[in-house]
Amino acid sequence: MDAHFKPEHYHRPVDMKTASALLAQRGARVIAGGTDLLVNGPASTESLVDINGLGLSYIREDDGLRIGSTTSFSYLLRSPLLERYPYRVIADAAGELGHHNLRHVATVGGNICNAVPSADAPVALIALDAAVIIHGPSGERTVPLDGFFKFVRETILGEGEFLKEIAVPVQPESGACFQKLGRTKVDIALVNAACRLSIIDGLISDSRIVLGAVYPTPLRVRAAEDMLNGKEFTVELVAKTAIIASDATKPISDHRASAEYRREISSVLVKRAIIKAYGRAEGSP
Ligand SMILES: Cc1cc2nc3c(=O)[nH]c(=O)nc-3n(C[C@H](O)[C@H](O)[C@H](O)COP(=O)(O)OP(=O)(O)OC[C@H]3O[C@@H](n4cnc5c(N)ncnc54)[C@H](O)[C@@H]3O)c2cc1C
Repeated sequence: MDAHFKPEHYHRPVDMKTASALLAQRGARVIAGGTDLLVNGPASTESLVDINGLGLSYIREDDGLRIGSTTSFSYLLRSPLLERYPYRVIADAAGELGHHNLRHVATVGGNICNAVPSADAPVALIALDAAVIIHGPSGERTVPLDGFFKFVRETILGEGEFLKEIAVPVQPESGACFQKLGRTKVDIALVNAACRLSIIDGLISDSRIVLGAVYPTPLRVRAAEDMLNGKEFTVELVAKTAIIASDATKPISDHRASAEYRREISSVLVKRAIIKAYGRAEGSP
């Protein structure tokens, strides 16, 4: 935490209009689970707006899925709605996030809004073409999750706005898979990846390839998707696609891993994700 992170006020509104009004004030910041904010809170924070009183902890079926922003990862993991493919990819990512205690507190909205490249949920959700519903002083707007991130810790959220809900559209018959490599089982990702694909008349179609922790924002690699679509599944095709995906990355070197290692791992995880997504599209568990 920034040594100067000392917010002076704490609010817990129970309606969204009040939440937006409070957030429009100078130095106001959302707190959800606090697992990121209380570690990395910026000094500019003058007040905290706790959004846990807004009734946004849920997952339900409604023209696809609707997930409230303060839903915890352990709540998601218990949901029967995430047992079937391809929604299962959300549960895969939730199960890989941190450790058991963290998952009780950390929220899916916080995982998206902290906008760090290694976040697990955005990669899985972008593979499902998810959108985010943003609440603000002048009402609500819906934006594709793929367009939500501007840079590391920067999103399109404006003054007084907060993430209310995630909408996952009805999915075609398809398989999906999330893969992650961290230094240990409970570490953040060195690289994470998700793939979703359908098989129509024996050919791959409508594929999504998304990588995390190798670019300032989650990275959807359309060139890799184009490589897969309309083709029969072969080991050679998977290998070529994985190289295209890893070539699109711009990883950094840090104390966790070198850029070179991250690029190499990107290719391995994309390969695994495609193979498993294909198997699931064919009915494997
Ligand atoms: C030990 C440890 C291990 C971790 N491991 C992982 C991991 O494996 N994978 C991973 O992805 N992350 C990991 N994290 C990071 C963090 O726990 C997650 O990103 C978590 O989901 C954040 O959610 P939160 O509710 O705690 O967010 P908070 O800390 O409450 O908020 C995070 C940021 O998002 C903003 N925010 C939160 N909700 C909203 C909203 N609805 N609208 C607008 N802004 C909002 C806050 O203002 C803040 O800037 C780890 C953290 C710790 C401390």
